[in-house]
Amino acid sequence: MLTGCVASGAGTRCPECFAPVTRESTLEHCPVCYGTSFEGGYWAPVAIRGRKSAGPVQTQLTAHGESDVKTVTFAILDYPHLEYKDVLVDLRRNDLYEVQIVTPTELKGVTVHQSLTASLLGRNSVEYRVPVAPATSAALY
Ligand SMILES: [Zn+2]
Repeated sequence: MLTGCVASGAGTRCPECFAPVTRESTLEHCPVCYGTSFEGGYWAPVAIRGRKSAGPVQTQLTAHGESDVKTVTFAILDYPHLEYKDVLVDLRRNDLYEVQIVTPTELKGVTVHQSLTASLLGRNSVEYRVPVAPATSAALY
């Protein structure tokens, strides 16, 4: 069982960190918007069921040198529609993943499920502060 938190695409810009000139968040770890530049950061989490499988470990170059990013793939139903940068919570392990790639699987033109590639967020990521209350919406399916 997983919970998806769908990132807000519209709403009030963050009063704490949003810079109208550059149109982006100036604080990477902003506690108000979790770095999304929208106040509150994310829509209320939606409980979804999915299947997780291990993906390849990707090596990324960062300012601190090379680091390995653990990726996983998720197979979930077609709703809610997830997008790049949405956050998934593995409720059993309390691991947070950031969606990188969404591949819809279509059957006769209708999306039947989504295949996601997501990367594990480090424990110091601000996203871990997003409140998740999955019990309120556990009966979607
Ligand atoms: Zn902010």
